[in-house]
Amino acid sequence: MQVAHAVGDVLVVGGGVTGCGAALDAATRGLSVALVEKRDFAAGTSSRSSKLIHGGLRYLERLDLGLVREALHERRLLVEKLAPHMVHPTPFLLPLQHGLRDRLYMGSGLLLYDTLAGRRPAMPRHRHLSHAACLRAVPSLRDDALTGGIRYHDAQVDDARFSVMLARTAMDEGAVCAPAVDVVGFLHEGDRVAGVRARDLEAGDEFEVRARTVVNATGVWTTHMERLAGVESPLVVRPSKGVHVVVPKARIDSEYALIVPTEKSVLFVLPWGDQWIIGTTDTDWQFGLDHPSATRTDIQYLLDHVNAVLADPLTFDDIIAVYVGLRPLLGGGEDETAKVSREHAVRRSAPGLVSVAGGKYTTYRLMARDAIDAAVADLAFTVDATRTADTPLLGAVGAAGAEERLRSHPAAALLGPGHLRHLVRRYGALATTVLDLVAAEPHLAAPLPGAERYVSAEAAYAALHESALHI
Ligand SMILES: Cc1cc2nc3c(=O)[nH]c(=O)nc-3n(C[C@H](O)[C@H](O)[C@H](O)COP(=O)(O)OP(=O)(O)OC[C@H]3O[C@@H](n4cnc5c(N)ncnc54)[C@H](O)[C@@H]3O)c2cc1C
Repeated sequence: MQVAHAVGDVLVVGGGVTGCGAALDAATRGLSVALVEKRDFAAGTSSRSSKLIHGGLRYLERLDLGLVREALHERRLLVEKLAPHMVHPTPFLLPLQHGLRDRLYMGSGLLLYDTLAGRRPAMPRHRHLSHAACLRAVPSLRDDALTGGIRYHDAQVDDARFSVMLARTAMDEGAVCAPAVDVVGFLHEGDRVAGVRARDLEAGDEFEVRARTVVNATGVWTTHMERLAGVESPLVVRPSKGVHVVVPKARIDSEYALIVPTEKSVLFVLPWGDQWIIGTTDTDWQFGLDHPSATRTDIQYLLDHVNAVLADPLTFDDIIAVYVGLRPLLGGGEDETAKVSREHAVRRSAPGLVSVAGGKYTTYRLMARDAIDAAVADLAFTVDATRTADTPLLGAVGAAGAEERLRSHPAAALLGPGHLRHLVRRYGALATTVLDLVAAEPHLAAPLPGAERYVSAEAAYAALHESALHI
């Protein structure tokens, strides 16, 4: 395995958004980098989020202004420069339930949200809507569930795709990133961590990967990983379960995503191709970390809260999929998980070992930067500062106008309606490589059976260019 020979400056453990971001951060500083992920890239929490790149409106209520400002800054960077092909502005409706009082309170919150986003906003500012205007835009709302509403914008991302593109960008910058490699132990030289023992889950053999410094970016597995490294008081990460359900697009008639305040937090109803994603819950999880599962109570909670605003209530029969993720929360003691801060922590847990955990998908770049800043303190030479704010992800350069340009590609005419746009919104300028596959083998233009929004060529592309080992 290539990674076994890549003795380098930095070894990242974990191929979620944080680990892939750390690999990219280190590689763009000129360091030699390897990353190992025990399953597929983004197989952990980074494919099971609400898929929002957002400041986090609900954190305003807790006056986490620093966190919101930071996240809004990242949102802007992603939408405008780093990944405009994958991070897309989306309009949201916040229905108001209590007339003037709500309008003043929520309106002030959104004014602050827009202000924190900066003077040159990346997306439209909020707008107050009347009761009639809300029902025109969202005919599925129950007439008496709102007195009016406020429209604002945040952004959506395909979280799994984004993490894969991050890993690919890191590889493009020289990193060696390997999925299906499980870290099963740590190597020590004196009191220093000097690398890991890893198992190739495909071939079954074990090997060593040596590195000057190891970054533990394993999300909810952080504590386990630190114990494996022999850290006496490991960083405590508290897994909090979040459940989403998916229903067909036809079940809710709406121009906007919805954000519905709940007694604990908020509920999102998010457009996702020909479906809606509805979520999420926020409860402690004390069982195995690899396969969290939803209970009937979780799903009933989601249905009850969404049905509180819908004219035609959803039932269990409407649900076509359920997915569950675990938030890697830091501390919080006895507090409800919904109240625990979403800030991140970076800790030098032992000489040669840095752990990074907590945070949000939106702020992955800052987590990655802070982790590599801490890791390079262990190196015996000077290292450049982070460059990721100026490093667009693969596919970003040339993405604007790619749809127009690619209409004349010989394979474009073979695609189904909407598929060219779909490819450009996932691969940006690299959509041309997917089209080349279709041109060579026209049967790859067919929609993927069971997931017709996707093109068959994407499966071939994942195997050929994105380290997918099994389809
Ligand atoms: C329900 C839910 C909704 C969310 N919604 C949002 C949102 O809308 N916006 C937002 O900004 N944030 C959101 N978040 C938070 C965000 O998803 C997470 O903060 C982020 O994905 C964490 O990424 P990570 O890379 O730290 O962890 P992970 O993605 O879990 O990555 C850790 C990786 O380490 C790997 N690993 C573990 N052990 C080993 C080992 N021994 N060897 C090798 N690899 C190993 C795992 O397989 C995993 O892939 C949400 C979270 C949840 C749960």
